[in-house]
Amino acid sequence: MLRISILFLLITQLSFGQKQKKANKIIISNLQTHVNFLADDKLEGRRTGTNGEKLAYEYISNEFKKNGLIAKGDNETYIQAFEVNEGKQINKSTHFIIDGNDLKTETDFTPFIFSANKSFEAASSIALPQRDGVWFWNLKDVLEENKTNPHFDLQEAIKTKVKEVTDKGAAGLILFNTSAIADEIKFEAKAKTETAAIPVIYVYKAAAEKYLKDEAATHDIKLKVDIGEKKRTGHNVVGYMDNGANSTIVLGAHYDHLGYGEDKNSLYAGSTPQIHNGADDNASGTAAMLELSKMIKASKLKKYNYLFIAFSGEELGLYGSKHYTEHPTINLSNINYMINLDMVGRLNDSTHGLSIGGYGTSPKWGELLNAKDNFFTIKFDSSGTGPSDHTSFYRKDIPVLFFFTGTHGDYHKPSDDANKINFEGELQIVKYIYNIVDATNKTERLAFTKTREAAATSKNTFKVSLGIMPDYTFSGSGVKVDGVSEGKLAQKIGIVAGDVVEQLGDFKFTDVQSYMQALGKFKKGEATKVKVKRGDKELWFDIVF
Ligand SMILES: [Zn+2]
Repeated sequence: MLRISILFLLITQLSFGQKQKKANKIIISNLQTHVNFLADDKLEGRRTGTNGEKLAYEYISNEFKKNGLIAKGDNETYIQAFEVNEGKQINKSTHFIIDGNDLKTETDFTPFIFSANKSFEAASSIALPQRDGVWFWNLKDVLEENKTNPHFDLQEAIKTKVKEVTDKGAAGLILFNTSAIADEIKFEAKAKTETAAIPVIYVYKAAAEKYLKDEAATHDIKLKVDIGEKKRTGHNVVGYMDNGANSTIVLGAHYDHLGYGEDKNSLYAGSTPQIHNGADDNASGTAAMLELSKMIKASKLKKYNYLFIAFSGEELGLYGSKHYTEHPTINLSNINYMINLDMVGRLNDSTHGLSIGGYGTSPKWGELLNAKDNFFTIKFDSSGTGPSDHTSFYRKDIPVLFFFTGTHGDYHKPSDDANKINFEGELQIVKYIYNIVDATNKTERLAFTKTREAAATSKNTFKVSLGIMPDYTFSGSGVKVDGVSEGKLAQKIGIVAGDVVEQLGDFKFTDVQSYMQALGKFKKGEATKVKVKRGDKELWFDIVF
């Protein structure tokens, strides 16, 4: 009997292990499929508003559908469109023709962003400005006069000049510069200025030398300025799992990337534009989110609803996630917490270093995260803000976590390719996040706590202190003592550098942030106990603040 039951146990364990192995293999192969598709040259770097973005969001929508998610974007589709306002652009009808020579926009001349949208045709002379004619202004004198004036502001000088000539009846103003002093004038698409009453353009040096050399000549001028709004449409992909619960867990990852680097956010220094495939940033996070949606759908985790969002516009400044939190398709106040995955494909096989942000956004994270790990070397960051989409949710008072395997030499370069992704490592992250979601299925909705910004304002309210200097680089749980202040409480009771302070009275804490919160619960003269870990030993000290 006994022998048989042991054998039976062995068999079931084996088959469980084999099942697990098989499941892992499938996840890894799926992650590869997703990353290989999203980071393929065919998608041309998934730049927001391009056809590559479209191929990506169609793929993600299709995966959401396959995984049984409900469409939760606009008009019962998976897609939520949003506009990315990029300032102004020079429309094609803009032209400047001088004596029959059609000058090239942005090569030979540029309108100023504050220029009026008007057209004009007349003969005008540089030397003899006339009412209702185009006036000229050579910047030479004003630049040379102010060569050593540190307070000189050319932009202001130009604006003053525009007002002045407008008042005198000019119908337009053409600037140029024959001095040796650089003026750095270009079309500032994102500048915010008041629009002038007349068209104002600048003729670049080479063209000015060619066409405006003779100050006494009368020129035949045909000018039209047409400046319009520059906009792009980005697309979030939103899928929902409705478990009839009151509260919803959000998992998100941005899928957009840099395209050919047109938005000037690439670190590639070469002169030939190249596709930025963004395999780690962030095909990896998108792939992980897709696999998590599948795993969660197939699971028994039904205490909460789940919302999965693939954001676009992240690389341009968190546009997609900001749009979602301003135009949510579920009630934001019912969100339990949000998990963001951004660059999770480069786990280092020897250090297993994983960075987790947002640790301070709920007091519960400490308990949940510490209980779950023995594989990763985790670097915690308590802040709810950071350079990715969780920031948008944190700003709405939602607890967040941000997973990131760290930066690398291929970051924002064309070399961030799929063959450099550590899929085995990414599998571990997927499983780790699944375990966190699983653990929260047993707990009530998480409480939200503000990090940094808010904590800074309450700094002066502490009435008591221990007199320890925390080691801010410590990534374990508790507050590691970097040093003790001379003559203060900690020194008096025998706390030394290297100790890890874990608890004050009933208040356990996980990091400097929550330690500060715990301190805030005590008054001067109050007696309590402090728990300290020294090596393997646990010490309790009686203290009076
Ligand atoms: Zn990026």
